[in-house]
Amino acid sequence: MNVYDSARMADVLAALGYVSVDAPEDADMVILNTCHIREKAAEKVYSELGRLRALKEARAKRGKRMVLAVAGCVAQAQGDEIIRRAPFVDMVFGPQVYHRLGEMAARISRAAGSEIDTEFPAEPKFDHLPEIKASGPSAFITVQEGCDRFCTFCVVPYTRGAEYSRPAVDVLAEAAGLARHGVLEITFLGQNVNAYRGEAEMGESWGLARLISEAAKISGIERIRYTTSYPAEMDDDLIAAHGRVEKLMPFLHLPVQSGSAKILKAMNRRHDADDYRRLVEKLRRARPDIALSSDFIVGFPGETDDDFKATLKLVEETGFAHSYSFKYSPRPGTPAAVLDGQVEDALKSERLFELQALLDRQRLAFNLSCQGRVMAVLFERRGRRPGQLVGRSPYMQPVHASLTDDFLGTITEMRITDGFANSLQGASPENAPETERLTA
Ligand code: SAH
Repeated sequence: MNVYDSARMADVLAALGYVSVDAPEDADMVILNTCHIREKAAEKVYSELGRLRALKEARAKRGKRMVLAVAGCVAQAQGDEIIRRAPFVDMVFGPQVYHRLGEMAARISRAAGSEIDTEFPAEPKFDHLPEIKASGPSAFITVQEGCDRFCTFCVVPYTRGAEYSRPAVDVLAEAAGLARHGVLEITFLGQNVNAYRGEAEMGESWGLARLISEAAKISGIERIRYTTSYPAEMDDDLIAAHGRVEKLMPFLHLPVQSGSAKILKAMNRRHDADDYRRLVEKLRRARPDIALSSDFIVGFPGETDDDFKATLKLVEETGFAHSYSFKYSPRPGTPAAVLDGQVEDALKSERLFELQALLDRQRLAFNLSCQGRVMAVLFERRGRRPGQLVGRSPYMQPVHASLTDDFLGTITEMRITDGFANSLQGASPENAPETERLTA
């Protein structure tokens, strides 16, 4: 969502005449869009600000100004604390108010001092943002923001605020607009995206399954994805949509966090490991080729060796195509930060290492299992080597292939000739006939 938000900020500024430059020293304004989810991400902001301060001062010597802004969730969480620690920062604003960027910038240019805006305005920013622009064949659309779940480790409910769903007509209009500009794939975004409940015509309210079904009717849109989902919010309609809507891609990011019922309870997840197993089973029944990815936290307060083993067991039984895993990071203001039984860092590292080794093996096994298959690949950009393009498989794997630029922005069938740790190699099916591949 930060990628989406950054692009929208650029749209707001473009409407005011700003253009983007390649190097920060050439910029009249630099915005750091920040993440507060783990301590490491939040602390990076200050080291980055230190670097920008030098550039700002060098620019001042040349008689030029650099407006320095901190946006996003660190801005939301820390507000004027940022100005206290880094007084050379001019603007601090949270993720819900960046549509006011122009006004803030105008005030800054007229007067000394800094601007701080961490409001949660009653009127959503979406009503004030310029029309979304396509940049490539794949696009994000925020459909939902905020979270009401209050997992005990998580800052999101405090930084992004309460759950809000955009009206379905607005989302569909945005999708249709993007399709007219050549977008083939849309990803619906939300911190708790499957809690989507958008206002629709005649006082109806639609869930995510309905939104997906309607988006699938838009001509030009060939692929639909959504992220990130909360397991306890996967209702039967949405599961059925995976079997029914062909354009809904067979890949789902469904974070489980832990395989221990006790830890999941302490996390306030409202699902245990067996609920998750049943859910995966239902999804696979609806869409047998669905591949799953997940997030994991190791070293949550009170996590014992047995709890950790339960996580390994769940991973082994489920089989993930891809995953993100993290050491538990205590976040200010969250209930888990003050729980007894905080796990020491060395043990967290050990567990993370073991878990990641298993997850890496699973990812490689999944990529290897794709060898010999023909897959539709959406080619998005040029690769590093001349004559090489990079695209995405239905399962989100990067696929490299030797193709001319004519294939950019197309969905093309490729035979997968190799599977690696993080990507696949593809070739046109005529150049890599199945028989040849199988005997090779
Ligand atoms: N609702 C989203 C949350 C996105 S945050 C989701 O469920 O995916 C992305 C991931 O960061 C979370 O899934 C979780 O695994 C991890 N995370 C969140 N808070 C954390 C913390 N305090 N310490 C370590 N990892 C955390």
